[in-house]
Amino acid sequence: MSLAQGRQHVAIPGPSVMPDRVIQAMMRPAPDIYSEEMDRMAPALVARLKEVARTRHQAVLYIANGHGAWEAALANTLSRGDEVLVLSTGRFAHGWAEIATRLGARPEILDFGNAEGIDAARVAERLRADRAGRLRAVLMVHTDTSSGLRSDVAAIRAAIDAAGHPALFMVDCIASLACDRFDMDAWGVDVMVAASQKGLMTPPGLGLVFFNDKAAEARKRADCVTYYWDWTPRSRPQITSQYFGGTPPTHLLFALEAALGMIAEEGLEAIWTRHATLARAIWAAAEHWGLGGPLRLNVADPALRAHSVTALWVGSDRATALRDWCAHRAGLTLGVALLGFGTPEWHRGFRVGHMGWMNAHMVLGALATIEAGLGAVGIDHREGGTSAAARVIAGA
Ligand SMILES: *Cc1c(COP(=O)(O)O)cnc(C)c1O
Repeated sequence: MSLAQGRQHVAIPGPSVMPDRVIQAMMRPAPDIYSEEMDRMAPALVARLKEVARTRHQAVLYIANGHGAWEAALANTLSRGDEVLVLSTGRFAHGWAEIATRLGARPEILDFGNAEGIDAARVAERLRADRAGRLRAVLMVHTDTSSGLRSDVAAIRAAIDAAGHPALFMVDCIASLACDRFDMDAWGVDVMVAASQKGLMTPPGLGLVFFNDKAAEARKRADCVTYYWDWTPRSRPQITSQYFGGTPPTHLLFALEAALGMIAEEGLEAIWTRHATLARAIWAAAEHWGLGGPLRLNVADPALRAHSVTALWVGSDRATALRDWCAHRAGLTLGVALLGFGTPEWHRGFRVGHMGWMNAHMVLGALATIEAGLGAVGIDHREGGTSAAARVIAGA
């Protein structure tokens, strides 16, 4: 029997749930792009974005998704033949490295697997061995959305400093910005990339790049950059269209303005605490389901788990059946097991997105639905995970 009629909950790790206020901000006719409103809006959005990233340096926007922001960050700082060190904790570092390759750079991937986390000592050791200083940049992903693993950004900065290495430090915060604590300037990040559709609760279509003076210096030598991706005019615009390399993405800007207003009203500290608490509720449910059985979280160490996305393995090939049951019978869409892409593992896991506009009843509803689905499709689990999550919420 289908019980799916009602408000759907798409709990995939991006695009995230859009707040009604964000949707309503877009319900208006096309504006005059030469209006005062547009002229006011662009610098105000940039200022707000810098607050969210905790930086006093530069922020630029591109009409692009996260892949565009990835390419912009690299194109503005690298030249053909440059070597870069990529720290991998899942699929996304490999995606960023592929873009570096296609730009003509030479990425070297230090692969830390999908569940264990980055060994900062190994990073320092690799950098110390680079006596000639050939590595131009160190790339890492704050939260890898495929594995649900969150890495310690400050620890990698410390490793770079311990090695006395001059490489630029670039961080992908696409799945963590406005979900997990991030402090660009305090943590010594030179370039950070983000996108609109995850913690920022805005439709896909805006790629964001934040960069400091050291990265701006690197831009002067970089030969990979082309007209559209050049961040220089975007960061020093004379007229509004220069923020966007052409026509502003008007309705995405209205949406982003509403979302950033909500973020400012709630406050970053409160947002981080909310995400951390809801994540703990999800972990409590999963750990309970897995007691004495095969179901488990991908990341065993709670200190390494993201607060915005959780990856689980069910211990059988029934995970696709579970996702189908939740979507078609109950109105809950779960994320695919991206780590298993192209392999039978695809059917052995799923992910829950819990980024952005997410509250206790949405998370408890999703968990109760998953628990019903585990029973309905015959996945071995211990009943009562939802109650374990409820205890976390009650105690928060
Ligand atoms: C979603 C995501 C990307 C890719 O973003 P797109 O908008 O799909 O191009 C890159 N990195 C991380 C960590 C992500 O979560």
